[in-house]
Amino acid sequence: MLKQKLIDKYNRHLNYLRISITDRCNLYCMYCMPSGFISRLPHNAVLRYEEIIRIIKVGISLGISKIRITGGEPLVRKGVFEFLGKLADMDGLTDIALTTNAVFLKDNIEKIKTAGIKRINISLDTLSRNKYKKITGHDRFDRVWEGIELAYKNGFDPIKINMVALSGVNDDELSDFAGLSFAYPFHIRFIEYMPIGKSRMKYGPLILVPEIKKRISGIGKLISVKNSINDGPAERYRFEGAKGEIGFIGALSHHFCNRCNRLRLTASGQLRPCLLSDHFEDLKGPLRKGCSDEELAEIFLAAVHHKPSDHNLSTSNPEKVLIQMSSIGG
Ligand code: SAM
Repeated sequence: MLKQKLIDKYNRHLNYLRISITDRCNLYCMYCMPSGFISRLPHNAVLRYEEIIRIIKVGISLGISKIRITGGEPLVRKGVFEFLGKLADMDGLTDIALTTNAVFLKDNIEKIKTAGIKRINISLDTLSRNKYKKITGHDRFDRVWEGIELAYKNGFDPIKINMVALSGVNDDELSDFAGLSFAYPFHIRFIEYMPIGKSRMKYGPLILVPEIKKRISGIGKLISVKNSINDGPAERYRFEGAKGEIGFIGALSHHFCNRCNRLRLTASGQLRPCLLSDHFEDLKGPLRKGCSDEELAEIFLAAVHHKPSDHNLSTSNPEKVLIQMSSIGG
């Protein structure tokens, strides 16, 4: 087995790389990419697929074994299915997953399957068609839901549905989302809104995990599910008698940084050691100047060296983190 070389100062073993392949999205979610804040990277500022693949190979040589493709919206980028297929053929990766808003899922399910992707995370913040339009700026709820049903029929497993709880926007739907875990074997994951970037969402009152748990408690008894080492920050549960699971991701209420095993690569080639810090190491510049794989590996190690012990985002210091989630990929 390959020796893990990506070990940070706090003895965390980093084997997981999240890769944003585009900063573009086909939705304008009010808290993530509100239309007034869009700044798109010029074409040549975005890493080419060959460049991403070279970076992944260097990552694998250092111990990366798990990757997730994200965006912006990854399925809007031309050539994405061929790219996903190339990843599935790479030696050294044990897990390749995709995060999507599912708008293009229904039309591309076969291509995603053929490319070898088995695990999909879907971002969906409401089960109401009208509210969907308000949150995302587009009337696409029906096609998203059809895409989810189709992914289910095609055997994607697990299908995780990520819902960001937003006060006064969708917090009246927490129990409806939780109830989906009885009808489908989906993993419904409640995510705390993180006050970062310039989004027009205001910060309070934030709905934190303890409050979400309280609000869905009427549905049934939550039974804890043992985390496996690849689970990352989610706290896992299941309602008695349910087919699916419930997960909670509480970046604010629950600092889970001691379990963080991630690095992030942005579409513009920044290697970021922490989602909630603005520190990055540039990979694109050196790559395009013709650096060696050894030099790329040094950049990985520098990013690992700068991984903070903890993020210090809290309800009292909003806007500390300047990057938009749409640029880093969540
Ligand atoms: N377009 C893809 C999607 O919709 O899943 C991938 C990118 S999107 C930025 C990834 C995730 O980040 C989505 O689930 C979105 O809800 C979440 N997100 C965006 N801004 C957030 C914030 N401020 N706090 C918490 N989650 C956020």
